[in-house]
Amino acid sequence: MANIILIGPPGAGKGTQAEMLKKKYNIPCISTGQILRNHLQQNTALGQECKQYIDKGQLVPDNVIVEILKDRLSEKDCHNGFLLDGFPRTLAQAQSLLSEGVEIQAILYINVVDEMIISRLSGRWMHAASGRTYHERFNPPNNPGHDDVTGEPLIQRSDDTQESIKNRLISFRKDTQPVIDYYKTHKNFLDVDGSETPEKVFATLTSFLETVLHP
Ligand code: AMP
Repeated sequence: MANIILIGPPGAGKGTQAEMLKKKYNIPCISTGQILRNHLQQNTALGQECKQYIDKGQLVPDNVIVEILKDRLSEKDCHNGFLLDGFPRTLAQAQSLLSEGVEIQAILYINVVDEMIISRLSGRWMHAASGRTYHERFNPPNNPGHDDVTGEPLIQRSDDTQESIKNRLISFRKDTQPVIDYYKTHKNFLDVDGSETPEKVFATLTSFLETVLHP
């Protein structure tokens, strides 16, 4: 399998696509946001350190997040490929992959306009333990308010507030857009329209990945 980056603004549908790709290709999906939320939930020292940034919608410092990712990538399940969701978000983070010798075979950029981001984030629901995301209109769970896999109740993310959404968009434009521009020259860079249905986006991603995996 391959090492893949899924990149795009908050609410682009990265989490939904990551979940579907993980199932199809049987590779771990590494969401740095989900790792951080687990730390918050367990109230670890790292969680306490990062909470101030997450709640405000600001990026956690590069040195902290790079260490978290390095640890996670050293685990055995990553040796046959992985999907990164939410990393890298700055040029320094992208640089850390290079300096660690982590090769990336494909970059999937899910592109959506700001107006859509806001409407998507406001109706978003999540299964806390797994990070599986739903949307009350665009991607509803089978049983309203409950996770499709476990049946457990869904929650709304504490950082899906207006203030935090505004900051996350600012940080996306300022810090993450340069990462996308940097990856545009990669030979397997895909720019996909995230305003399409999740099924259509998934079909575009998988047909692209087929050409990468079986050139
Ligand atoms: P996400 O679930 O990817 O939207 O991430 C939720 C929050 O976790 C972000 O708003 C940041 O505060 C923090 N975070 C997640 N990934 C990163 C990263 N790669 N760099 C810095 N902060 C991050």
